[in-house]
Formats: sequence, structure tokens, C-alpha cells
Amino acid sequence: MQRILEPGEIQALDATAWPRVALPERVSVFAARAKRLRELADGNSIGGYLRLMAVLVDAQHAVLAGLGEPVIDTASMRLAQQHGMPIVPAISASLNPQWRAVLAELIARIEASSSATGAPASFASVLARLRRMSATELDAQAAAQLDRDLDTVDPALAPFIHAALEVMWTQRACALAPEDMPYLDAPGLCPVCGSPPVASIVRVGGAFDGYRYLQCSLCATQAHCVRVKCSNCSSTKGIAYQSIEGSPEGTRAESCDECHSYRKIFAQNKLYDAEPFADDLASLALDLMMNQAGYSRPDPHPFLWPARGDEDEENEEDDA
Ligand SMILES: [Zn+2]
Ligand SMILES: [Zn+2]
Repeated sequence: MQRILEPGEIQALDATAWPRVALPERVSVFAARAKRLRELADGNSIGGYLRLMAVLVDAQHAVLAGLGEPVIDTASMRLAQQHGMPIVPAISASLNPQWRAVLAELIARIEASSSATGAPASFASVLARLRRMSATELDAQAAAQLDRDLDTVDPALAPFIHAALEVMWTQRACALAPEDMPYLDAPGLCPVCGSPPVASIVRVGGAFDGYRYLQCSLCATQAHCVRVKCSNCSSTKGIAYQSIEGSPEGTRAESCDECHSYRKIFAQNKLYDAEPFADDLASLALDLMMNQAGYSRPDPHPFLWPARGDEDEENEEDDA
């Protein structure tokens, strides 16, 4: 059974030398990501895709700006703090139906964006499919992502569904304060929403300088994690760093021989503008290299879900 921490004990644990978390900021979280995706698109083998995803992230920025402050339930936040649970767990049971209105607005903004002109026909057809889906069908796709039911997640729709969920959870994360953060029993998971990290970054500047942070794949909260430690299984043994020869310095994969997984780690002193979500997506060649070496990602990138086993059959049906 978990021991319940009293408020005084929580504060005492906070007396660390480094900030435990860096919370996302409304004004910059998606704007910086969209800018970074466009920078990384030049000369990238998936540059066209990165530019399309930048249009989606632009829409996330605009939709988040238009949302008011969320209501944070302080009673459930206190409970989460005492029990070492995430404040707003990213599970289908806590899905706010407003997420569908956020998705509809994202789609409308993408369709109205001049940056989306010239996008392949498949892009428009995915948006049209999303617009035709019923509330029940949309909720089922959102639930599949939140509950990590990868067999049900439709990879073509997933980036857009994820983007809407991301706006919902980021809105909450932006409204929290660092001292609100619970101490989770599950290291590596986000203290705000309990999601796994997309990648990590060794930051520069101020109190964050030289410390490594795992960035949440859903709400963009960055939580401190010591270096040379697996963010998947917490092992400190068998950790190694790999990079692609000749690629820009500062992008590496941190691999673990205990669980045979890897996640990327970006060094801000070499890549000042690195944004883990964008830089992870743009370094696909490193994923291919790691896969060939026998390591796998614990989770797919939220904008690049793996094809399902039945995908070929479905495509044949679509073509018929
Ligand atoms: Zn989170
Ligand atoms: Zn591991």
C-alpha cells in the first residue's frame, strides 16, 4: 500500500537544488514547436510531412489561445498529491466531451490555412473523414490513444485526434504551478497527466542548466530525470548513447540493454532551439538505425503511429 504524504512532507521533498518541472506556457508551447518543425523540414527526408504537421501545430496554438482558463478541481488535486498520482490522468474515463469541439476547430483552421494549400489529397481526405465521424466513433479513437490500445488506434487519424487531446491537457498543465506537482510512484511518467515522455532534453539556462528533463508526450510538461538512466525501466546499467555519423551534434538515442528500448535525448547546448516533440519526429533516420540495432521505442511518436496489421486490406477496400 502506498504511504500518504502529508502537506509538510511534500514541501520538504521540494527542497531540491534543481527545478522538478518546467510547465508549458500557453503563448509559446505550440508556436515554438511549429517554428521548430519548419526549421527541421529543410533538407529532411520527411520535410513535406513536417511542414504539414506544422500547420496542425499552428492550429493548436490558435485554438489553445482561444480557450479560457480551465477549472482545476483542487480537492482531486490534493488527493493526487497525497497518493502520488497524476493530477489530471490521461485516461478515457477523464475525457472531457469538449475535446470534440477542439478537434472540429483544429480541422476548420487547417482547412482555412493557406499553408495547407498544395497538401496531398490524402491529407484533405483524412480531414473529411474526421468531419464525418460520429461522436461515438471519435470518442472510441480518443479512448484508444489514451488507454494505449494500439490495435484500435487508426494511424491516419491519430495525429489529429492526439492534437486535440494535447490541447485539452496542455491547457490544464499551463494553469498549474510547479509546487502543485505530486511525486509519482512511476518514474518517467508525467506528474500532470501520467503519460510517457516523447523524448528528453538536457537544458541550458538558469536553474535548469545541465539538468535533464523528460517531456510529456501529451501535455508538454518537462519533469526532471537524472542522466544516464533509462526513462522506460529506470535501469542505470547498460545505458548507451548513439547518434548518426555526420548528423548535427546534440541529437542522440539513449538506449537501455535491460529493456532493449531507447528514447532520444537532445542537448540544448548544441541545439539551442531543440523542442523534444519536433526534434524527435524530425530524426526518423535515428529511429531506423536504432531499430536495426535491435532497440525499440516504448511508444510511437504521437504524430507517427505505426501501421496496423490489417492496414493493407483496408487500403484495398478504399481503392475499390
Ligand atoms: Zn503530461
Ligand atoms: Zn530500460
